[in-house]
Amino acid sequence: MARSKLILFDLDGTLYLVGKLFPGVIELIEKLSRSDLQYGFLTNNSSIGPGDYYHKLKDLGLKLQPHNVVTSCEATCLMLRSLGLGPEIYILGTRKFRQYLASQGFRHSYARAKALLVGFDTELTYRKLTEATRLVLAGVPIVASHPDLICPGDLPDAGMLLEYFKAACPGTIIQAIAGKPHRWLVEMLEQRFQVRREEIIMVGDRVNTDMRFAWNFGMRSILVLNGQPQPELGENTPDLILPEIGQLTEQYWPLINSW
Ligand SMILES: [Mg+2]
Repeated sequence: MARSKLILFDLDGTLYLVGKLFPGVIELIEKLSRSDLQYGFLTNNSSIGPGDYYHKLKDLGLKLQPHNVVTSCEATCLMLRSLGLGPEIYILGTRKFRQYLASQGFRHSYARAKALLVGFDTELTYRKLTEATRLVLAGVPIVASHPDLICPGDLPDAGMLLEYFKAACPGTIIQAIAGKPHRWLVEMLEQRFQVRREEIIMVGDRVNTDMRFAWNFGMRSILVLNGQPQPELGENTPDLILPEIGQLTEQYWPLINSW
């Protein structure tokens, strides 16, 4: 396999839970900042933008620069541009998601929407749901920032809304999804970090998004349990299964640096 140049960490359930970092994470990132391995923080959560995540991680005490943060928001913009959708989009998402998209040239519009973009809308209202439903019934293409059904904390996420729209109109297809485990995100990562997909190590706690992302694109994969029972793996196996993320700081440090 190719020599690894970038290690990516999922956030929720991997580096922290309900805003509290797991032991050893600050030391691990500090160590990475002094090593040859580039690192990135990768989240599918599109309820806040990459700038907000940068501040959130910095406030937790992690060493990082803005370019270390990658969210499904940036991958969403790449997807919309590549598919020629926009600039008017119906954005089913939070004010912060809409603001980020506006900063990248996409305007929220109901009357002129070229597509319905489904994000993690923690500010969902009946009015928004009605407008989006009418667009789906009118045949407007549906895209999403990410496919997660449930966000940690048992919160209904974007994938749940996709199921709703599929039920609204039989035969409805989701045209594209930006975040893990899909390709827009990997293309974005290759551009930003100047690496090839097989030079990436993906660390995460979810099989269907984090591990699937790694397996889909030939990356190395590390599944962390952080106190949770080991999930069903199916036919693929991660390169490493860690009971605790902190084990990367000392015990498995030589291993990830030899990959
Ligand atoms: Mg996670």
